[in-house]
Amino acid sequence: MIDLKKLEVWFVTGSQHLYGDEILRQVAEHSQTIARALDTSAEIPVRVLFKPVVKTPDEIYRLCQSANNEENCIGIVAWMHTFSPAKMWIRGLQSLQKPMCHLHTQFNCNIPWAEIDMDFMNLNQSAHGDREFGFMVSRLRMNRKVVVGHWQDPQVHRRLNVWLRAAAARFDWQGARIARFGDNMRQVAVTEGDKVEAEMKFGYSVNGYGVGDLVKYVNEVSDIQTDKLIAEYDETYRLAASLRKGGSAHDSLREAARIEIGMRAFLESGGFKGFTDTFEDLHGLAQLPGIASQRLMAEGYGFGAEGDWKTAALVRAAKVMAAGLPGGNSFMEDYTYHFDPENRLVLGAHMLEICPSIAAGKPACEIHPLGIGGKADPVRLVFDVAGGPALNASLIDMGDRFRMLVNEVEAVAPVEKLPKLPVARVLWKPLPDMNTACAAWIYAGGAHHTVFSQNLTTEYFEDFAGMFGIELTVIDSKTELRQFKNELRWSEAVYS
Ligand code: MN
Repeated sequence: MIDLKKLEVWFVTGSQHLYGDEILRQVAEHSQTIARALDTSAEIPVRVLFKPVVKTPDEIYRLCQSANNEENCIGIVAWMHTFSPAKMWIRGLQSLQKPMCHLHTQFNCNIPWAEIDMDFMNLNQSAHGDREFGFMVSRLRMNRKVVVGHWQDPQVHRRLNVWLRAAAARFDWQGARIARFGDNMRQVAVTEGDKVEAEMKFGYSVNGYGVGDLVKYVNEVSDIQTDKLIAEYDETYRLAASLRKGGSAHDSLREAARIEIGMRAFLESGGFKGFTDTFEDLHGLAQLPGIASQRLMAEGYGFGAEGDWKTAALVRAAKVMAAGLPGGNSFMEDYTYHFDPENRLVLGAHMLEICPSIAAGKPACEIHPLGIGGKADPVRLVFDVAGGPALNASLIDMGDRFRMLVNEVEAVAPVEKLPKLPVARVLWKPLPDMNTACAAWIYAGGAHHTVFSQNLTTEYFEDFAGMFGIELTVIDSKTELRQFKNELRWSEAVYS
């Protein structure tokens, strides 16, 4: 569903005519070498296209216009091999509508001590050429990422990879459609928000659909389709005995499979990238979609429960950023606490909808009563999650702006069996420690719904938030509450 290799970034080198043709020829040759190396790097997830060296304000402007108009171009990587007087960049940069990364590199890695002369100095001047460019970008108050280091240095590729994946997710949001089946869970505050502002800021649209429109698709599902999906369930999961053919709840499994097939057909027919539902509005559906939402998430759809469209969009963005990486990303909710002073833990889960991309081992497919919503027992996948570094990210609407909040955590493999807990669950220790992290999260107004990520670091969300110019608030190993509260106060001034 998500293929980053269809996307491209443009490698743009700035210079000027002052140097003469021979130097400019070498500049172009070096840029081509770098662009090719990045294009073929295993760390770089998209195509890297060399663009002819720009030397005049008109060339720069036209290049930025072309980048804006090129359908698969997710942004530009800029480098000043030589000195490119930066007033030449004003008009172009002011018109650029795609993200920019400033690669502060140099063609040679080391100074050739014995050979260095003024010709070499004339050609290899990014140390000051990139400073001139950096001034202009800062003077224009433009967001960008600055990556420093030799172009063959693996950490340069890693940092570019992060930025490119964030740019791919930003690109994916442009024109993306999120479907809402029903509205919000009644009276809930944090899942609300300004959908018009979100579309202006982020590029995705959120629209509501009657559950009856979805039910129509579910009712059209054939027995053959259902049999086929049930065979897939049987192969992929540990099916509970009651769900098997001849079992007391086999019909419920068939119903769950029909819901999944109908939902997928609805989402495909409308070109949607994410969806929400709510247990309070399921008219015509027998069960709250459990396994359906779980499996659609695993395919790359964004999902938010109880009408939470902001988290649905953020789950989708995480899926795009992490495409092809080991580990998974899921809709998540801080559910309940283990306040043992020796071992404080958060148990994350949801009523049903945790993505099996984060599962440790083969999930069990089970059926249990839900307790709320008054519908038939829903089928769900139940599993544990492995330990390791992870994070939770939340996007909230503060009324005058959006705030992205990230808490780095250490996921912990289950210490006990939890035999009576019929949902997928994760245990984690938030950084810097549970009491500080939870207080900071609450001071920041972070939602109870998040994206839980095993393979994205804070740097992804930092780059991603930067591309929209929104506030990013981070709770990590260095967070100290008094300072954190000040950061929130300062952000109030900066972003209001
Ligand atoms: Mn919830």
